[in-house]
Amino acid sequence: MAVPMLELAPQNASVKDQILQGLSAIIDRSSFVLGENVKGLEAELAEYSGARYAVGMSSGTDALLIALMALDIKHGDEVILPSFTFFATAGVVSRLGATPVFIDIDPETFNITGALVEAAITPRTKAIIPVHLFGQMADMDPILQLARRRGIPVIEDACQAHGALYQGKKAGSLGVAGCFSFYPGKNLGAFGEAGAVVTHDATLSAKLQVLRDHGQARKYFHSDIGWNARMDGIQGAVLRVKLKYLESSNQQRRAHASLYNELLSATEQVITPFTAPDNQHIYHIYAVRVRERDRLLQAMAERGIACAIHYPVPIHLQEAYRSLGYGEGSFPVAERCAREFLSLPMYPELSGQQIRTVVAELKTCLGERKPQECVA
Ligand SMILES: *Cc1c(COP(=O)(O)O)cnc(C)c1O
Repeated sequence: MAVPMLELAPQNASVKDQILQGLSAIIDRSSFVLGENVKGLEAELAEYSGARYAVGMSSGTDALLIALMALDIKHGDEVILPSFTFFATAGVVSRLGATPVFIDIDPETFNITGALVEAAITPRTKAIIPVHLFGQMADMDPILQLARRRGIPVIEDACQAHGALYQGKKAGSLGVAGCFSFYPGKNLGAFGEAGAVVTHDATLSAKLQVLRDHGQARKYFHSDIGWNARMDGIQGAVLRVKLKYLESSNQQRRAHASLYNELLSATEQVITPFTAPDNQHIYHIYAVRVRERDRLLQAMAERGIACAIHYPVPIHLQEAYRSLGYGEGSFPVAERCAREFLSLPMYPELSGQQIRTVVAELKTCLGERKPQECVA
């Protein structure tokens, strides 16, 4: 049985009729940018995330960019973030002329920690961006405490953590701003590009709304130099329907992860994900660590099991950042993760049978070499 890494069609089929009604109304009104569906989505997202306000954006990348712009991050400023993340977290910092200051990640949670952040703070540090990698939130208390002491804003990159919990609080609701992506493959996915920023701060929320629309609060009167980061009405309509199913689909992912963990518990060559106490992981990605990752990826593909690598190169070693001068060995945990992570198929509609097949094939692939060569 072949198993894909990700399959969006079944989930979209189940909501297609509801979504078509919303899209039909948009075509009838022919009002395509922002508008009542985006407003409605913003209210529903704010309620869902436990933040007071949500502002729709054109992507997760733009959510991060506009949040940094609202905090006036500019040339000469430093922003601390993990080296192990999707490129966008760093790219937006550089796009504003500021300097990303990379730090390593914790070897168990794969997120940044208060101690790692503290060691990287300088008088130029103007923001800290924890990334809730793969759907598990970073240990926020120590980070928020030290940030508060030093007056540095914390922006959560919650692009992989829709609905994840830390001490009962939702991802995105702990920092001054929380950024979300609704790229189709995320736990909450649009029919194209979309994103949002959530915040408790009314002033910041107003600023985000102005900045995403070329700095205009009133049409053609520009108080700021903003950007076009507006969300499409169509994406708003799609996301309003899909948001209703986010909790149940996260629950399905969590059940799949438990089954994977259980089936792999006796396999010494595979390190399964760790969930920190008082955290609810929502498994945007289910990544295990293995030796000989590239060989396994290939062998699994030959058996029809599509796995993936998130991510093969940590950001500090990307060609785009060569000029920052980080070398191999700068962040050993991030570098090791880049060599060892193997993402197994994960999406809500995955069946128990498919999961058993993935694990059986993985065990077969591991057995292709003498045991001492595979010990992780
Ligand atoms: C997906 C993602 C982004 C960017 O979101 P887009 O909607 O693709 O622009 C940023 N950070 C992380 C951690 C992501 O996973």
